[in-house]
Amino acid sequence: MKVQAVNTYILDHKLETAFESASMSFKRRQHCLVEIVCEDGTVGWGECLGPAKANAEVVRTYAQWLIGQNPLETEKLWLTLYNRLRDQGQRGLTMTALSGIDIALWDIKGKRFDVPISTLLGGRFRESVRAYATGSFSREGVDRVSDVAAEVARYREEGFHAVKIKIGFDVEEDLKVIEAVREAIGPDVRLMIDANHGYDYLEAVEVGKRAAAFGIDWFEEPVLPEQIGTYQAVRADQPIPVASGENWHGRYAMQEPLARRAIDIIQPDICGVGGFSEMRRVVDMAAMHGVRLVPHVWGTAVCLAASLQFMAALPPNPPRRSPLEPIMEFDRTENPFRQAVVKTPLEHCRGVMAIPDGPGLGIDINREALITYALKEQ
Ligand SMILES: [Mg+2]
Repeated sequence: MKVQAVNTYILDHKLETAFESASMSFKRRQHCLVEIVCEDGTVGWGECLGPAKANAEVVRTYAQWLIGQNPLETEKLWLTLYNRLRDQGQRGLTMTALSGIDIALWDIKGKRFDVPISTLLGGRFRESVRAYATGSFSREGVDRVSDVAAEVARYREEGFHAVKIKIGFDVEEDLKVIEAVREAIGPDVRLMIDANHGYDYLEAVEVGKRAAAFGIDWFEEPVLPEQIGTYQAVRADQPIPVASGENWHGRYAMQEPLARRAIDIIQPDICGVGGFSEMRRVVDMAAMHGVRLVPHVWGTAVCLAASLQFMAALPPNPPRRSPLEPIMEFDRTENPFRQAVVKTPLEHCRGVMAIPDGPGLGIDINREALITYALKEQ
């Protein structure tokens, strides 16, 4: 078995309503898919977290060292590619692009042995996971407090047991939003807050102290991802558990926050951390440090499928925890190609997602959607 071609697909959609987190403004949805084609016709799919065009360029750079290689040798190929760009790489785009490639290689491996990736990873601890709804971004021209409250009320109606909202814009307004959201979802739906590193230390501590009264499961990315010491201080000086990890790529980026106990929950993204190969190592590291792992998920159904396979094989820690744990992040913002890229959508039913049990990622790609949503201008 040999790799014959590596293709990238940049998918693009102009949003009807632009939205913003504390650190990013979204006018379009763009995601990069990776297709690896083998000489025997086997095809594997992957996805990269982050800027689609830049990811595609790095994937194309890696491709020259993949052609002709045995796709089943995932560990060897991961290290080969990592070493090729290590000197100017280590984190960021070199890791997000490598993630897309690694996921596609594992998809090929699953198809080759006719088992889901979760079986290759060691076995399925669960057949479904509960999902939490991510949304509640800031939208221009609307009253944020009432807009977000109405949005989370819909998630509750859909059956979600938990929601995560965006803060990090303005301390006083954010606290009003949190209060309105708790009112809208009632006492039983779990609530998480995500500042997308929009605060400094003082703001984060103030929000944490005052928001704790509203029953918050975790405070995500309160401060800049580079500032591990500030994470430690925020964790020590306010009562809400601190979560982070979507912007720490690879085991070396995870090492310091885990070892310094700067966080309570680590959130690697399989499309950014380095794919299945590296995610396995981060799982072990988190377990060794006694830090809960709840993955970050943001992308198309390819990303959802990869995350579900990984979550099926994530060992319960401690062992008595519910088979429905950990919980799956499910982005509810506008993205028409999220589900269109696969023939069978990966949807939730009353806040629970089934984990596909077909070979590899367990999905069939809808190639028509790749044409429909292909980026028109390069
Ligand atoms: Mg986040």
